[in-house]
Parts: sequence; structure tokens; C-alpha cells
Amino acid sequence: MKHNILKHFQNMLHHIYINPLEKCNLHCKMCYTKKTTPILSENEILNFIKRYQKEIEIKVITFCGGEVMTLPYFPHLVNTLTEKGIFVQIITNGTIDKLKKFNNPNLIKLIISLDGPESYHNLNRGKGTFQKSIIFLQKAQKLNFHVEIFSIVTKQSLPVIPQFEEYLKQFGSIEITYHPRKPPSYLSIHPVSNIKGEVSGFDFLTEVEVINLMKTKNVFPPKNLGCYQIALTSNGNIYGCCEGFDKLGTINDPIQQLFEKLKDKINGPCLGCYQPDFMCGLKNIYVCHSRTMPAGRQVGRVHTEPVHREGNPNQNYIC
Ligand code: SF4
Ligand code: SF4
Repeated sequence: MKHNILKHFQNMLHHIYINPLEKCNLHCKMCYTKKTTPILSENEILNFIKRYQKEIEIKVITFCGGEVMTLPYFPHLVNTLTEKGIFVQIITNGTIDKLKKFNNPNLIKLIISLDGPESYHNLNRGKGTFQKSIIFLQKAQKLNFHVEIFSIVTKQSLPVIPQFEEYLKQFGSIEITYHPRKPPSYLSIHPVSNIKGEVSGFDFLTEVEVINLMKTKNVFPPKNLGCYQIALTSNGNIYGCCEGFDKLGTINDPIQQLFEKLKDKINGPCLGCYQPDFMCGLKNIYVCHSRTMPAGRQVGRVHTEPVHREGNPNQNYIC
């Protein structure tokens, strides 16, 4: 393993990803995940974290679903973690307001899904969802949570990004991570997250459009890759990233064994990918074009230092 990848890998071990459930309160037209029934209990999560911390310090945990705000135990779990000094990132659709139940907003970043202007967002997520999420965002800012916006991009939303960003200016400077809609090359390979959803009105981007988006915006997966991490999923399986399907082990496996297995799998261009034959269905783009992309920074779900970003934003970029 190259020195820079090894260094990045070691850094990424301080950041874990947990999706305790797949169930959700919404039925988005572009959702690609199966809403399976297993749900991790609070104790299962805390026991895993306790075992992990015996091996290496956890600095950041990213939670995603489904919709984690539907879990009755979620605020209590997050409060337990932030009281230990762990920074928590929560990927949420922003339609369930439990904000006042979180005790340490300054140690929490809410990554809120907004797909574009109101009418387009509502078309995907349902009537009234845009306003709910905007009210959620504003309340979160008032309560001193960190916030970020996560935005799925399609052929229809791509041209209205400037209009969307202009609208968002009223809420101050908020980081936006753009996520090209999972392409057919992802959906046709992934064994679980493979629902095509509605395409008419939400068309997939072409390869050229994805590349242009990568050149000009913060994106997920990041333009320099490196988006692997220990990822615990709702059925107790452990993967090497939030999008992977090549199992590393299960929740009760020795933590060092999981680290070794993850390390063995990382390969590919830039900072590497844990499934280099898959790369979120974007292999062609990363392998053929990574050396031509401009410098960028790690984005979205893979930040290891979400509060202190003012350093060199290109420090991880090697392509
Ligand atoms: S909010 Fe997310 S998980 Fe829920 S239906 Fe929409 S895309 Fe799927
Ligand atoms: S499959 Fe590769 S590119 Fe996709 S999230 Fe995982 S590590 Fe990143």
C-alpha cells in the first residue's frame, strides 16, 4: 500500500459509519435502497463502539438510514456519544424534528437532504417535504448545530443548481455536497441497494455530466476517493464503506481483524476504493479521468475532521 493511502486509511479508522435501519418515513421516487426490517438496538451499537474504542479512538461517527430520526432511542444514543466527546454526523431527510432532544448541538452535524428547488424536491420526496426540511435547517442553525446539505443530482436538477444555490444563500454559508444519482452501472451490480425507482423526470447523468460536476462542486464519492471506513449496517454486517457489498465481517468480529480485511481490499487510483472493481459504478470515470481532475477536498460522509476545515483543503488530493 502506498504511503499516502496508508496514512489516509489510518486516519479513516477514527471515523466509523453506522446505519442502524433501512426503514424510512418517506418514499422518495429516486430511493435505491430496500427497506429491510432489521434494526440495530442501542445496546448493540454502544457495545460495538466500546469494543472499537479499545483498539483505536473514534473521533467521528456518521449515522445514516433509512431515516435515523424515526428511532425512539436515537437522541439518547447521540447524547451518550457526544458526552464522550465524539463528533456525530447525521444524514437525515430533515422531516422529523427532534432537535431539542440533542444536548450537544456543537458536536453534531446534520447533513440534510435537499434535491434542488422546492417543486423539484417535492416531486421526489413528497408534497410539503421541502418546507419541512427548510424549517428544520433554520431551527438547527438557531440551536447551533453544524449543517450541510446533501443533494442528489439528475439531468433535470443539474441546470438549476445555480438557482438552488442562490436560494440557499439566505441561510448563510452552508456546504453542499452533490451526489450524482446512482447510475445504472451501480444499480445493476449492487445486490441490495438496487432499486431503479422513477426515471422519468429524474434522469441519470451522463458520464460527461458527472465529470463536469466533479470538476466544479463538492461531490460524493469524493473526486480523490478514499471514502472507505468501517461501516456497521442494520443486519449486523460490517462493510468497508457506506456503499459497499463485499462483507468484511459481522458486528461481533474482532476489530483488528476488520481493520486488516479492510486494508487488504483497498486499491485503485487516487486515495483508493475498497471495492475497486465497483467504485460506486463510476469506475470508468475514476480510472480514466482522475488524473485530469482539479484539486478538491474530501466531502460528505467521509470527513474525519468536520469542524476544522480551514486548513489546506487539498491536502488529501493526489490524483
Ligand atoms: S429519505 Fe432517503 S432513505 Fe428515505 S425514502 Fe428518501 S432517499 Fe430513501
Ligand atoms: S465503493 Fe468505493 S467509491 Fe464507493 S463509497 Fe465505497 S470506497 Fe467509496
